[in-house]
Amino acid sequence: MTLLAVAEVGLGPLDPNAPVLHADDGGVLRGRAVFETIRVYGGHPFRLEAHLERLAASAVRIGLPPVDANGLALAVEEALVAGGEPDAVLRLLWTPGREGEGKPTGLALISTLPSGHDEQRARGLRLAVVPWSPGELIARTKSTSYAENMVAQDEAARRDADDALFVAPDGVVLEAPTSNVWWREERRLLTPSLELPILAGVTRATLLELTSDLGYGVEEGAFPLERLLAADEAFLSSSIREVMPVVSVDGAQIADGRPGPAAESLQRALRAAAGYPLDR
Ligand code: PLP
Repeated sequence: MTLLAVAEVGLGPLDPNAPVLHADDGGVLRGRAVFETIRVYGGHPFRLEAHLERLAASAVRIGLPPVDANGLALAVEEALVAGGEPDAVLRLLWTPGREGEGKPTGLALISTLPSGHDEQRARGLRLAVVPWSPGELIARTKSTSYAENMVAQDEAARRDADDALFVAPDGVVLEAPTSNVWWREERRLLTPSLELPILAGVTRATLLELTSDLGYGVEEGAFPLERLLAADEAFLSSSIREVMPVVSVDGAQIADGRPGPAAESLQRALRAAAGYPLDR
């Protein structure tokens, strides 16, 4: 991804190549800040309200000053205009600002889309299991303390996989480092419950709305890895990856080892909900 534009709450568009945060910002020094990653389809950030709500809730959880949602929404518009790219990644960042000042910093960033997702969607992802015992606070918060998530992705890459699959010590499937996980058993879709220490994905919530129209039942719960390994298909969901099929876990093929029909129809339905059909 390449950063195209940045706008700061209260300041408007900034030079994307100039430094923006101070060295003593609590987000930098302590990793105490929150963020959101949002897909922009044809100039429109998808489910911006839901992302702003999650950002505000994350900020409360880790004791940051309240999020200025109106200020951020304005910064989003400014960054979108400055970026000039209708299909993009929008990120929001909310930090406590400089030590001793009590003045939070809010940023909207526009970047190019990561490459390779269409190719990955066509072939499906290979996942590697990474044992995971996150603290409840961090697991439910979209905070910038993502070092462990990033290290897990590095470990998956070392094991020749595309991404990690987090599994709790008791064998219960949780999520992936930047995505929620789903699988299908005949006409029923299963996904880990939000009672588990996972992030409440905005895409996960959107897919839950879309499943019944497609004729799938949904079960949210605490499921052992064996259920996923024996599934008829599996996939991940996230704002940027959208619906991404999974074809193997630790080298063991899921079903016939090919992307499945639920992932395909949910990807189609997600794009339709975004007003951005796949075959437009
Ligand atoms: N789980 C984690 C840990 C994440 O970081 C993310 C997104 O970055 C998700 C799930 C998916 O969330 P969303 O659908 O809101 O992008």
